[in-house]
Amino acid sequence: MSQKRKHEIACPLCGREQRVELWDSINVDSEPELREALLLNRVNRVECEGCRKSFRVDKPLIYRDREQDIFVHFDPLVGGRTLAEAEKSFREAMAELDRLLPKDVPPPEAHLVVEWSELVERIFLLEEGLDARLVEHIKYMMYQQNAGKLPAEKKNLLFDAQDSTDDQLCFVVQDRATRKLESVLNFARADYEALVNLFDSGDQLALLEEQFPGPYLSGRLRYLQDLAEP
Ligand SMILES: [Zn+2]
Repeated sequence: MSQKRKHEIACPLCGREQRVELWDSINVDSEPELREALLLNRVNRVECEGCRKSFRVDKPLIYRDREQDIFVHFDPLVGGRTLAEAEKSFREAMAELDRLLPKDVPPPEAHLVVEWSELVERIFLLEEGLDARLVEHIKYMMYQQNAGKLPAEKKNLLFDAQDSTDDQLCFVVQDRATRKLESVLNFARADYEALVNLFDSGDQLALLEEQFPGPYLSGRLRYLQDLAEP
């Protein structure tokens, strides 16, 4: 079941306080139209009753698609919330879920994202049957190979399902400040498949898990962390 409830918010544009109804969780098995609404950026978007401007409220949201086994927790880092706090509460929530589930039911493979663009990207990526950790590993390599041209502190790389083909995985470069989409980088699907095979073995998989211990997976952040290390 999808769930929405009333929240007190202040308009970021004129400051007017108001009570609005926002989604806490959406379940696309029972309400498939919510998937469409989310991908069109219409979920948790409100029109201010004061200035009439429309804006999206960044608040936690759970996206669930049981049929495709997709579970994404969006926990935006607003109001001073840190990534460490988001990871901690995600781990706690997963432990609680594990405790509540019957012993013979495996917990769903849940994903943590902290930016709206990551939420949309992760849904597409999982729908395509791709491995999120591996895709972040590929982004890491792209930042490394394009050092200078693709500054990780300023640019996002987002998997683009619509423009991907049987031969190429398509990634869009997005400016983090302006949110504008600037260019496209391709990664051969054959190379992705080769990586899937490579990381199929235990030793190699351990290396990948060491690079991205999770729960938050980001090739961009990992690359920046490695750059910062002396
Ligand atoms: Zn307003």
